[in-house]
Amino acid sequence: MSTHSSDVVVIGSGINGASSAWHLAKRGLTVTVLEKDAGAAMGSTGKSAAGVRVQFTTAPNILLSLYSLPIYRSFEERYGRDIGYRDIGYLLLVPETRWDTHLESVRLQHELGAPVEVLDPDEAQKYIPFSTEGLAGATYGPWDGIIDPHMACLAWVDMAKELSVSFRMNTLVTGLRPEGEGWLVEAGEDRFSCKWIVNAAGAWSGEIGALAGLSVPVGPKRIQIFLSSPITDKRAYPLTIDLSTGVYVRSELDRVIFGLDNLDQEFGFTEGIDQDWLEHVLLTGVDRYSWWEDMGIDLRGSWWGYYGVSPDNSPIIGPHPDTRGWIDACGFSGHGIMHAPATGVAVAEMIADGDTKTVDVDHFRHNRFAEKLPVEQNIF
Ligand SMILES: Cc1cc2nc3c(=O)[nH]c(=O)nc-3n(C[C@H](O)[C@H](O)[C@H](O)COP(=O)(O)OP(=O)(O)OC[C@H]3O[C@@H](n4cnc5c(N)ncnc54)[C@H](O)[C@@H]3O)c2cc1C
Repeated sequence: MSTHSSDVVVIGSGINGASSAWHLAKRGLTVTVLEKDAGAAMGSTGKSAAGVRVQFTTAPNILLSLYSLPIYRSFEERYGRDIGYRDIGYLLLVPETRWDTHLESVRLQHELGAPVEVLDPDEAQKYIPFSTEGLAGATYGPWDGIIDPHMACLAWVDMAKELSVSFRMNTLVTGLRPEGEGWLVEAGEDRFSCKWIVNAAGAWSGEIGALAGLSVPVGPKRIQIFLSSPITDKRAYPLTIDLSTGVYVRSELDRVIFGLDNLDQEFGFTEGIDQDWLEHVLLTGVDRYSWWEDMGIDLRGSWWGYYGVSPDNSPIIGPHPDTRGWIDACGFSGHGIMHAPATGVAVAEMIADGDTKTVDVDHFRHNRFAEKLPVEQNIF
């Protein structure tokens, strides 16, 4: 049995582990990434709706997007790799009851430099057909859109490998203990020693904490995405969310994907498509999107994955308060794709410099949950 040594062990080769690994290697640190699956992006990263947006209600989240989206938008120019970014936009349909508070968020987005357009409901029909019943207005983010999370994750893996990061697939972390100044990581028969652990294990991050006797309050919730049969409208529908119900829909080639996140469910690695939930989503959404009445469903093309969920549905990015040499980068709910560039740079600066300067992630510190911080409302 041999022990492999590096400055940092990143646990998880999803988009946040891969981004962190590359940013760390760029800072001259030696990095090993341990991944239980056979390839990268096989956890939540490969299961997402792929949306990226600036339309959040709190400054810390808007700022993560304002750092991350320009990187995604210019990824190919910067790094010579296509990550499938398409500026199809996010269209939020806002009921009268939420309009005033929604406009306050838009003011904050504008103040921080986020491009967001305010539309009246009729004007917004140019993007997608919907009933304007009960709606006061809509907002559209022209930078918002989708990327291909597989391509983005694999781009970082590739770039990290060029900087000699070692990726160990089929390597399930089974034990973690402090050793000397750092950590000893056990993965079956293999041993990895390092000064720093980055816990980027997504919905499994709570389990990784538990292996080291640490509380990392992040657990899994199953999220389902449904696929339609081909539809006739050839427009690329933005990722459209009806804020009165939470039901969303967007184009996926000649079809649409749609869903409704159930964040009130119990934690757990529940598997499979739940047809009762599909029916609930269809019944909840059809008043807004009357064309759903004639829409076929492709159940075989529908899928599910796990949100890694923290107590306030926002991520934990930062050192664990009860130990040393341990950074958590997890609990992203439905935002882990869009915020991976900011997460990677923040993780690298925390380890290389002891603090962050490029993006402020203090809001996402571990011990914030007992404090009365503004809680993000646009969780979807
Ligand atoms: C249905 C759905 C829709 C979503 N839509 C969006 C969206 O539109 N936009 C957006 O930004 N986000 C979205 N998300 C959320 C996004 O997918 C996640 O936040 C993001 O993928 C998290 O990436 P990650 O790298 O942190 O975790 P993951 O991609 O889950 O990677 C963690 C990795 O850790 C590995 N791992 C776990 N335990 C161990 C262990 N013991 N040993 C070794 N490896 C281990 C796992 O195998 C996994 O590969 C969605 C998620 C789902 C499920």
